[in-house]
Amino acid sequence: MDQDCIFCKIAQGSIPSSTIYEDDMFRVILDLSPAAAGHALVLPKKHFRNIFDIDEATASRLFVVAAKVARAMKASLNCDGMNIVQNNEEIAGQTVFHFHLHIIPRYKDDGQVIAWKPGSAKPEELQSIAAKIKVAMNE
Ligand code: AMP
Ligand code: ZN
Repeated sequence: MDQDCIFCKIAQGSIPSSTIYEDDMFRVILDLSPAAAGHALVLPKKHFRNIFDIDEATASRLFVVAAKVARAMKASLNCDGMNIVQNNEEIAGQTVFHFHLHIIPRYKDDGQVIAWKPGSAKPEELQSIAAKIKVAMNE
């Protein structure tokens, strides 16, 4: 636990939150500034800054919890779709530096935009990038 981290305090239960799910590894809460009704955050109880330092046990359980929450939201909120978003570092929009996964139910005409501008790449550029990443995957 990081003493200065608000999500550590929320995840441990020392700051109250609108909790929708809790187990030994995670607390899932409603976001205070929801993009849409039901917008939730999956918080690991252990402190990780983001995806670059999350441990394997937490990472591998994360989507089991996310899928459980997603199905419960679909059944209870009657949403039409869902975005899963996870921001890492300031350049990518991270504002709270304790790992969290956003689960954002989507409704027809909700007016939200969660998007990027599609770019373009030549096949040789894709191959060169893929080769670099593959080397690092084996390090
Ligand atoms: P991110 O920009 O990915 O780091 O997301 C941080 C999210 O945390 C934002 O959607 C905030 O609305 C949300 N947030 C910040 N503080 C709290 C809090 N105390 N309780 C619930 N959600 C929070
Ligand atoms: Zn923390």
